[in-house]
Amino acid sequence: MHCPFCRHEDSRVVDSRSLDDGSAIRRRRQCQSCGKRFTTMETTALTVVKRSGVAEPFDRSKVINGVRKACQGRPVTNDDLAMLAQEVEETIRATGNAEVDAHEVGLAILDPLRRLDQVAYLRFASVYQDFDSLDDFARAVEELREAGNKPETVRALQPRLFTR
Ligand SMILES: [Zn+2]
Repeated sequence: MHCPFCRHEDSRVVDSRSLDDGSAIRRRRQCQSCGKRFTTMETTALTVVKRSGVAEPFDRSKVINGVRKACQGRPVTNDDLAMLAQEVEETIRATGNAEVDAHEVGLAILDPLRRLDQVAYLRFASVYQDFDSLDDFARAVEELREAGNKPETVRALQPRLFTR
């Protein structure tokens, strides 16, 4: 990182803070040579590794496309989907890993989708988790019922705490 004033190579980080969604880090730096201060924005790349081994950058629109079909005919808006995709990205970034399996992205979708719409959740889960019998479905519905009776749904409304 060259100093923008004197082109010196070394600078000291005096302050770092990540943006709310964790997509970038803003750093205040001080040049070791001229002592002037400047700010850098460093975006943190998040890579998704597919089952085929192909790695590609995390893309919220892919999350949305993956979920949209399950939401057909359900009272789910584009804003809802955008919020869901943001939450998925935040959840994954909060793990601190720069590279995740596509499988983990799917897992991160399940929880917010369940809170958003239970029917859409069941559709998505049945494809994603390879339900191949009525028993699988019945079990998932039973889990939903149990979750609905627990104070877990209340917890979902409270601010989430990330260990970062
Ligand atoms: Zn300098």
